[in-house]
Amino acid sequence: MPSRTIALVAHDHKKPELLEWVKLHLDTLRPFNIVATGTTGSLIQDSTGLEVHRFKSGPLGGDQQIGALIAEGKLDGLFFFWDPLNPAPHDPDVKALLRLCSVWNVPVACSPATADLIVTSPLFSDINHVRKIPDYGK
Ligand code: PGA
Repeated sequence: MPSRTIALVAHDHKKPELLEWVKLHLDTLRPFNIVATGTTGSLIQDSTGLEVHRFKSGPLGGDQQIGALIAEGKLDGLFFFWDPLNPAPHDPDVKALLRLCSVWNVPVACSPATADLIVTSPLFSDINHVRKIPDYGK
């Protein structure tokens, strides 16, 4: 099992964009352990053949399940194509997820442009790269 884990999440209007992005970077993403919110995960798995661990759908708690991974130090990157033009019933969960990425210095991309930059960084595919994890005990 690959040691690095990334999460993929897209709101409904952004799912086509995320799927297109995943297909573009399929070979780079393949070595990663991939988790996703429920509907996003099904779409990606069915359309690309990538194995995706699916949490609950976002509005039903999937964002929070991914947040728990971050809090436990088990997530190495989040690709979260959220929708800036439509209200989400679980907006507090969305904010909480993005907040945790900042709390724990987890790379996060909210658009294809940023996601492209992250996956093409040599650091992204370098299994020896160690992300600095904040020490809040001090
Ligand atoms: P979904 O959830 O992948 O189950 O649609 C995404 C979200 O709305 O956070």
